[in-house]
Amino acid sequence: MTDAAELRTLTRELLEAHPPAATEPLDFLKARFDAGLAWVHYPVGLGGLDVPRSLQAVVDAELAAAGAPDNDPRRIGIGLGMAAPTVLAYGTEEQKRRFLRPLWVGEEVWCQLFSEPGAGSDLAALGTRAVRDGDDWVVDGQKVWTSSAHLARWAILIARTDPGLPKHRGISYFICDMTDPGVEVRPLRQITGEAEFNEVFLTGVRIPDAHRLGEVGEGWKVAQTTLMNERVSIGGMRIPREGGMIGPVARAWRERPELRTHDLHQRLLSLWVEAEVARLTGERLRQQLVAGQPGPEGSGMKLAFARLNQEISGLEVELLGQDGLLYSDWTMRRPELVDFTGRDAGYRYLRSKGNSIEGGTSEVLLNIVAERVLGLPAEPRNDKDVAWKDLAR
Ligand SMILES: Cc1cc2nc3c(=O)[nH]c(=O)nc-3n(C[C@H](O)[C@H](O)[C@H](O)COP(=O)(O)OP(=O)(O)OC[C@H]3O[C@@H](n4cnc5c(N)ncnc54)[C@H](O)[C@@H]3O)c2cc1C
Repeated sequence: MTDAAELRTLTRELLEAHPPAATEPLDFLKARFDAGLAWVHYPVGLGGLDVPRSLQAVVDAELAAAGAPDNDPRRIGIGLGMAAPTVLAYGTEEQKRRFLRPLWVGEEVWCQLFSEPGAGSDLAALGTRAVRDGDDWVVDGQKVWTSSAHLARWAILIARTDPGLPKHRGISYFICDMTDPGVEVRPLRQITGEAEFNEVFLTGVRIPDAHRLGEVGEGWKVAQTTLMNERVSIGGMRIPREGGMIGPVARAWRERPELRTHDLHQRLLSLWVEAEVARLTGERLRQQLVAGQPGPEGSGMKLAFARLNQEISGLEVELLGQDGLLYSDWTMRRPELVDFTGRDAGYRYLRSKGNSIEGGTSEVLLNIVAERVLGLPAEPRNDKDVAWKDLAR
């Protein structure tokens, strides 16, 4: 069992063998992965050392102090937070070896082809079809709100493989090659002016059966791993004190005394405390996690994150007065990374609106917490035992 002291030694050995100042960032990241210091809770040979996740902080602190490059989770968040834990849980050895290293070092960006025009909160209603053809599956359908599809090399995809089964049972889970000629990506412009996400049309896309994750018809179960991890990855990111949305507003308060009022002070204090409680709860949640398989508690974290981001960014706009109303950057562009807390107050205010929709809406997450954490009665469902093809759409 490797402990903190041993991890520190291993990290220093990595730094000695590959001094960050003299090493290409990508080469450094590859060496870090091969040393098992990428995500220490992952298995040996797959970027980890099979040790508790909480020990990652020891490695990260050493590397940050040495100015080592990182893999920028803002650019590859879907790969790191969602695709990787799903590949780890359900992938074959070959799939794990093929996909995890380029994903972690950032050579290959991933996106998530789940939502459809008729299937968002009710994701299991999805209609994209995958039909078996020899060693391949042929996929036809439309996905929507696909973040980073314009950058992605691979996608995690769920599609219907048996319309004769009830909706949760006829779904399978695939890894889709975004360079397939049948994949068409079109930008969708957001309230911020830019197009971070897309609609994706799939026409005769061929996916080898070797790129299926989990058993045929078990895609819903596999997707739960992705969705539970998504909520932790959106709502439970590791941040330092004042590292999230509360940081810029607290700084503005300190640096610009002319903006202060008693009422805003009370609201800032209470949001500051809530943000700190949410941050520490996230820290505890991460410490409790074994390799990448969170439960419904991640939904609670994501709920708190969305509400706080919207309240804090609203307070910031108010605090800044006329300046807060300015949003000078309403330009159509295709961002390379997503940073909720970056840029100016206007961007933060507008972008945080999506926080209560992406990764499951707040209403749906409240249902999950009610049913799976509090044990309250489930919503009535009359479509559980009906074949998907016979459901009203
Ligand atoms: C910024 C952003 C990025 C996204 N990125 C991706 C991505 O990369 N890949 C991807 O697949 N998807 C992505 N999504 C899509 C996201 O997961 C869906 O928008 C979300 O699940 C809601 O689905 P919907 O938009 O179809 O809304 P609907 O499901 O139609 O919901 C409409 C409204 O009804 C409410 N509602 C629905 N069902 C219930 C219920 N049972 N109880 C109470 N209220 C209910 C919802 O809360 C919502 O207010 C992204 C969304 C956003 C905003």
